[in-house]
Amino acid sequence: MLKTKDILDEKDKRLRMVSKEVSFPLTKKDKDLIDTMIKYLHDSQIEEIAEKYDLRPGMGMSAIQLGVAKRYFVVVNEIDEGEFETYVLINPKIISNSVEKIYVEMGEGCLSVNRPVEGIVPRYARVTLEAYDMEGRKIHVRGREELAICFQHELDHLNGILFVDHIDKKDPFKGKDQYRAI
Ligand code: ZN
Repeated sequence: MLKTKDILDEKDKRLRMVSKEVSFPLTKKDKDLIDTMIKYLHDSQIEEIAEKYDLRPGMGMSAIQLGVAKRYFVVVNEIDEGEFETYVLINPKIISNSVEKIYVEMGEGCLSVNRPVEGIVPRYARVTLEAYDMEGRKIHVRGREELAICFQHELDHLNGILFVDHIDKKDPFKGKDQYRAI
């Protein structure tokens, strides 16, 4: 079982790597890693399990956060109380996006950043991604609001970018009025 301490911390240089494209079929190792990521994200969002195993809650995780520099990530999104939808996106890219940009008012979070970070991270309000599923089939996925932000956050990880990089150091709330808070 994956523990929070197994997730790379922001100080780890591997998080700065640009992950490599994945070829199909997936290896057993990658399939197992994906299952592990799904389980962690799911369990971490269920209070009793998260407390019992001391899991930091998260809805998205990229392979590089476990030290694997391959272009895939997993998102487990709670759509209703205790009801989740799971996305496994391999070799993903944004093929269209809204003009409108939004940001998380409370500040974005990341399983690799273990400190409170204030500031605005502008993200597209809506995105469509093209990616491959675990069987190597091409898929299109749309996300809006929080899910759209999560997709963009995870895509950044594949390129060695952390959300804190987007925040203006001198003026963390720069541009506040240009974007919509969610
Ligand atoms: Zn993250």
